[in-house]
Amino acid sequence: MTIHHDKLAYGRLAKLNEDMTDGQLADMLKILNGEEQYILALDQGTTSTRAIVFDRRGNTLARAQQEFPQIYPKPGWVEHSPQDIMGSTVAVIGEALVRANLTAQDIAAIGITNQRETTLVWDKRTGKTVYNAIVWQCRRTAEFCKELIQEGFKEKIYNKTGLVPDAYFSATKIKWILDNVDGARARAERGELAFGTVDTYLLWQLSKGKIFATDYTNASRTMLFNIHTLKWDEELLRLFDIPASMLPEVHPSSHLYGCTDARLFGSPIPVCGVVGDQQAALFGQLCTKKGDVKNTYGTGCFLLMNTGDKAVKSRNGLVTTLGATADGKPCFVLEGSVFVGGAVVQWLRDEMKIISSSEESEEQALKVEDSGGVYVVPALTGLGAPYWDASARGTITGITRGTTRAHIIRAALEGIAYEVCDLVQAMEKDSGIKISRLAVDGGACKNDFLMRFQSDVLNCATVRPEIAETTALGAAYLAGLNAGYWSGLDEIEKNFEVERTFTPSMEEGERLRLLDGWREAVKKAML
Ligand code: ADP
Repeated sequence: MTIHHDKLAYGRLAKLNEDMTDGQLADMLKILNGEEQYILALDQGTTSTRAIVFDRRGNTLARAQQEFPQIYPKPGWVEHSPQDIMGSTVAVIGEALVRANLTAQDIAAIGITNQRETTLVWDKRTGKTVYNAIVWQCRRTAEFCKELIQEGFKEKIYNKTGLVPDAYFSATKIKWILDNVDGARARAERGELAFGTVDTYLLWQLSKGKIFATDYTNASRTMLFNIHTLKWDEELLRLFDIPASMLPEVHPSSHLYGCTDARLFGSPIPVCGVVGDQQAALFGQLCTKKGDVKNTYGTGCFLLMNTGDKAVKSRNGLVTTLGATADGKPCFVLEGSVFVGGAVVQWLRDEMKIISSSEESEEQALKVEDSGGVYVVPALTGLGAPYWDASARGTITGITRGTTRAHIIRAALEGIAYEVCDLVQAMEKDSGIKISRLAVDGGACKNDFLMRFQSDVLNCATVRPEIAETTALGAAYLAGLNAGYWSGLDEIEKNFEVERTFTPSMEEGERLRLLDGWREAVKKAML
């Protein structure tokens, strides 16, 4: 037992008779006996599955990660094997426990966070899937979504779900499986099949069929869930021809979902948190108040704003979705995403071969004073919010005889910052809230040059937390709060430490000039 835990224990003991629940009391006694417990976060992502064991301070005790194959049956189609999803999950949980030298009994609760929208359908009796998982990136239902828009369903779908009809979301993927897998529709109509996003599938498998549930944040990405009534929408189920018997129960993100089957990890572990990855990062960044914003710089960029109990209607190409809270009722969130963020750096490394590592991009960018008038628009797969132009393409403008490798690399990093700037401006217009602080995370936020430039062009502070694993941490916090491991938001707020804040230092005239140049470059990318 560490001194820190001693202090914590005695501090809490002093309050014993006041406001402790039985669970917290049991927890306390364990600490006093030297039996500290931990929270395990499972992050089931698009390219890998990770498990991280956290302690009370939010520190990482151990982690394990496993990548798994992407399946591309046709151009634009993306699938995952359900066995890979489940196999990697069990493997990384087991490995993280071993690395931390813990057993299942040392884990107070598991929090699950997951790639969103990805769709699975399985037999309720056997648990066997009828088809591979159709991944969020898969475009196979794009035509059908276009038809929905042409037939005038855009407004109705947006008003109920907060989403723009797109192949990205689960509804049309479920319909595709029912329409294309032999016998699936008849079985679904007989009530034999279940649908789930990845969280639901994992809950089912980890509990050997005892839990059939999802949380509000994942449900809000299916395009079947009414985010205002917090219920599956019967009219949309009819529109997509999906039997209601296929759908899981929906609970808050911080909730006791049930326990993992004892045979998996030696003894049962309670699952007390379920949350979609972007909403998990929002919570992990402690963006729990109205107006709080975070941006994740991963392969793509995801900007999310907590708008509290008010659903903000977007006129600028953003979607409205549900966020996780410490209590039962979900909050509303405004979300904007760009498809290619950090991925443009990967492209410079793997295809252009002008850097040998992502980190080298910073070193190169700092070799020049500015981009020398060069703009890189990273529209490699079209432009997302706020432009929504699927036919736009990556563009480099302003090249002169004096342009060097360093200028192009710098312009590519700046391009990521401009994309986020466009999202922030759309969000400010929609919400009427001026963003004064941007919480950042994801792989590319480690790039100091990018963060400084981001702060300059946004004219607002960017804040990088000490604990970089905000997605896993968010899931851990939601689970630990439900399990009584943490007493409330106050306690976890004490864990939050800023690693570095970048404050703007660019002259306003220069900032506006650069943004004008960016707008011109975007126009060219959309020609
Ligand atoms: P994801 O979860 O989407 O797979 P990550 O959050 O792990 O992504 O971030 C990986 C992305 O960040 C990659 O596209 C990589 O090129 C980029 N990246 C990582 N480190 C840096 C860096 N120092 N500078 C710029 N980009 C980086």
